[in-house]
Amino acid sequence: MSTPATPRLTVLGTGYLGATHAICMAVLGYDVLGVDTDRAKVAALNEGRVPFFEPGLPELLRKALDSGRLSFTTDLSAAGDFGDVHFICVGTPQQADSHAADLRYVEGVTRDLAPYLRRRCLVVGKSTVPVGTAERLTRIVQDNAPAGVEVELAWNPEFLREGYAIEDTLHPDRLVFGVASPWAEQTLRTTFAPLIDAGVPVVTTDLPTAELVKVAANSFLATKISYINAMAEVCEATGGDVQDLATALSYDSRIGGRFLHPGLGFGGGCLPKDIRAFVHRAEEVGVGKSVAFLRQVDAINQRRRARTVDLVREQAGGSLEGVRVCCLGAAFKPNSDDVRDAPALDVARMLQEEGAIVSVYDPEAMDNARRVQPGLHYAESVFDAAAGAQVVVLLTEWEQFRSLDPRRLGEVVAACAIVDGRHALVRAEWEGADWTYRALGRAG
Ligand code: NAD
Repeated sequence: MSTPATPRLTVLGTGYLGATHAICMAVLGYDVLGVDTDRAKVAALNEGRVPFFEPGLPELLRKALDSGRLSFTTDLSAAGDFGDVHFICVGTPQQADSHAADLRYVEGVTRDLAPYLRRRCLVVGKSTVPVGTAERLTRIVQDNAPAGVEVELAWNPEFLREGYAIEDTLHPDRLVFGVASPWAEQTLRTTFAPLIDAGVPVVTTDLPTAELVKVAANSFLATKISYINAMAEVCEATGGDVQDLATALSYDSRIGGRFLHPGLGFGGGCLPKDIRAFVHRAEEVGVGKSVAFLRQVDAINQRRRARTVDLVREQAGGSLEGVRVCCLGAAFKPNSDDVRDAPALDVARMLQEEGAIVSVYDPEAMDNARRVQPGLHYAESVFDAAAGAQVVVLLTEWEQFRSLDPRRLGEVVAACAIVDGRHALVRAEWEGADWTYRALGRAG
């Protein structure tokens, strides 16, 4: 049986990745059923509320719901009846007691879906997984599908960035199709026809390569960030200026300036756990040495958090005990409310552990931050957070913080001392307004 010209899609797991994918595919003209075990999330989405912050997504959700092509359910059996193509978008977090990925959700949803499959269909993994997972999921889905139902599995890794999720989904740099048969490739080509027709390049490959592309990309990006942060450490020891160094490197077309921004480093629900899971998996298959450098990448990244605390302590005169610190930012990056492994919240927690009186403000991540770090004090606004502060530390480079007027902020703080954890401010402007400015990798 050939693939229908417009296959019906299910999206299993409607978090940051799955909700965006479901909404965008409906907007592209497909009938889409989103499935999640989280009742509150499903109810919110059906009511037109995106349960996380992503610019433009609420408007697109409304448009997709109004088209009648998109709905959400907690009923997995409905997915079996509905779909020709089933996208797996559930989470693959780090295991609690190891660096390995926790595969219980991808395995669980695959096993649970299989008995409900009614006709020939393609199950497509989008979650980020250790290489070899697709092969195991193929066996799981085929062993558990009803007799006579032909099911194949393919891998289509996702590269979207939170904050740019719509753009990245509708206009990705490339599509990667990991397939085990020409039918699976053809089905994916049909499913992504609007993007392919618009000129998005397709790389068709085998299942393990498709799984590896995603972790290889994230490892490269993490390495580039930690590389410039390692240079920041060298600058700190030698009196160099990492900002000038990065600018000079960025003009080299072989290197390029993207992901070469020194600062507090990476966090979030992807990069940290993906590089750790990659090292773990590489060791399992006997090539641990090949990616051992990623341990250093991780260690450099973690050290930036401690070094940021050092700078705040130095600004406070040597001790944080009883010092009022205003923390600007909680999300792991701007334009997101995601606080998973957020460097900003980690620094705020470390400051408080050293005795500082911390006040945190973030434009979008306050609710999530309160859930993860309920012991911190949260302010209503930048100026509320900064009132009476002896040190201000910028931890997430929201545009709102970049464009702060140092003179106005100077009127509410107790002392004009700032640590620019993201190299987001123009130093001369702050020093010109009589602030003491410190940043990682730059002389004080
Ligand atoms: P998330 O935690 O926001 O979403 C996962 C969703 O899966 C949750 O809503 C959860 O309730 C749901 N779920 C769990 N078990 C389920 C089940 N059995 N049936 C149905 N739903 C179930 O995670 P996320 O950030 O969307 O990431 C999902 C995957 O995509 C991960 O592997 C991640 O590494 C990868 N990824 C994420 C991004 C990103 O920017 N967030 C980008 C690329 C890849």
